[in-house]
Amino acid sequence: MAFIKDGVGIIGVNALHHPNRQRFTLAHEFAHHRLHDDILRETVHLDRGFRVLNRDRLASEGTDWREVEANAFAAEFLMPQFLLEPLVDAEGLDLEDDEKVNSLARRFRVSTAVVRYRLWS
Ligand SMILES: [Zn+2]
Repeated sequence: MAFIKDGVGIIGVNALHHPNRQRFTLAHEFAHHRLHDDILRETVHLDRGFRVLNRDRLASEGTDWREVEANAFAAEFLMPQFLLEPLVDAEGLDLEDDEKVNSLARRFRVSTAVVRYRLWS
């Protein structure tokens, strides 16, 4: 969740979630603070999970564009282009290669879903 109280931006994450998920949630909620503070000033923004990270599928399901934008921000924030690109260029890019996807996920401390989403973007 993300909200603003007395002018201070606040982010809450579920401490029971896997650390990688918590990192993604923090980055996602940080994106809402950076990009969508207009809605946070009006209400508490509650994300109930990121079931699908595929941007096209989200868009086609009519998901709020702010969620799509926050997911893209979070993926870029956790896997910045300047760090990702040399690895992909050096090792090649094959989203079907589970070992390579797992390796990138461990390196950036994100889920494999985030790696695939990031590389599709
Ligand atoms: Zn959100």
